[in-house]
Amino acid sequence: MARTAPRAEPTITRDLYPRRVNCPHCGKAMRADYANRRTVATLDGLTRLNLTIRRCHNDACAALRRPYRPEAEGRVALPHHQFGLDVVALVGRLRYAEHRSVPEIRAHLAGRGLSIAERTVTNLLDRYDELLAVALTDDRRLRKLLAEQGRVVLAIDGLQPDVGHEVLWVIRDCISGEVLLAKSLLSARRADLAGLLGAVRDALPVPVAGVVSDGQHPIRWAVRHALPGVPYQLCQFHYLREAARPIFEADRHAKKLLKKRVRKVRPIERAVEGRADPAAEVVRGYCGAVRSALTDDGRPPLAASGLKLHDRLAAISDSIGRAEAKGGCRPSWGS
Ligand SMILES: [Zn+2]
Repeated sequence: MARTAPRAEPTITRDLYPRRVNCPHCGKAMRADYANRRTVATLDGLTRLNLTIRRCHNDACAALRRPYRPEAEGRVALPHHQFGLDVVALVGRLRYAEHRSVPEIRAHLAGRGLSIAERTVTNLLDRYDELLAVALTDDRRLRKLLAEQGRVVLAIDGLQPDVGHEVLWVIRDCISGEVLLAKSLLSARRADLAGLLGAVRDALPVPVAGVVSDGQHPIRWAVRHALPGVPYQLCQFHYLREAARPIFEADRHAKKLLKKRVRKVRPIERAVEGRADPAAEVVRGYCGAVRSALTDDGRPPLAASGLKLHDRLAAISDSIGRAEAKGGCRPSWGS
C-alpha cells in the first residue's frame, strides 16, 4: 500500500482483546503477553487500535509463543493496511455498483472526511479486487500456510458502509489474519451466509477450531447450519448490546415520559427574565439544572440514559422540596 500515512491525531480509540483465551492448537490458556498499536483511517475517523496480543506458553505446543491477535482487528482493517475495510468496501461499491471514476471516488471520500490521493484510491481498488478474487481452492500459498497451521478460527463480518446498499461479506481466519472468502451481496439472507460458510468449509484443507462473529440472527443461523458442532463465540460487545436491548428499549421509553414532565422550562425562565433578585437567580439555577439533566446522555448498553435522567431530576426535585420546606414555593413541573 502507498505510504500515505494520515498525519492527523486519531479521534477514535478502540481497545481490542482476543475473545479466545485458550490456545487454538493445544487448548491450554494463552497469556496476554504484550500490546500493539495501530492507526487506521476508517469512515468514522482516524482510529487508534490498542491491541492485546496473547501467546501460548506450552513448551509442547506447536504454536509456542506464536502471537494470537484480537479477532475483531481484521474487521477494522486487513493486516498492514492503513485504510479500514469499510473504506475498501466503499471504494469497491462506488466503482462497480455506481461506476464512478477514480477522481470521483477520491472526491466522495474527501466529502466524508478522508483526504486521500488518487493513487491511493487506485491501490484500494486493487485491494478490493484481490479480496474478491481470493479462491481458497486455487490459492497454493494460502493452502500451504493453513495446512502448516493445522486449523483455523473463522470470523464472518458484514461490512456495509452505507445503509441500503450492498454488504461486503468477509470470512477470515483469525490465526493467520488471512481473508478466505469475500463476496458482495445486496441482501444477506441466512441461506446465502450459510452458503458462503459452507464454501469455505469445503475448500479448507484443515478443520475449523472455532467461529467468532457478532450476534445478528442470520449469522448465528448460518453458523449453526454450515458448521454444526463447531465452538462459536459471539463478539463480546455485540453480545452485550443484544442482551441489553430490551432494557435499552424500556429505558428509552421511560426517558421519553420523564422528558414530557419537564418540557415547560422555557416559560418559567421567561417569567423571571430581567429580574436580578435572589428568587429569580434560584429559579434560573434550577432551570439550568433541568436543562443540563436533559442533555446528559448515558452510553448504552452499560449506562441507561433514562435512569440517569431520573436520578438527576429526583435530585433536583429533592432540592426544591428542601427549599419548599424552608418556605419557598414549588414550580408546577417539579412534582
Ligand atoms: Zn498451545
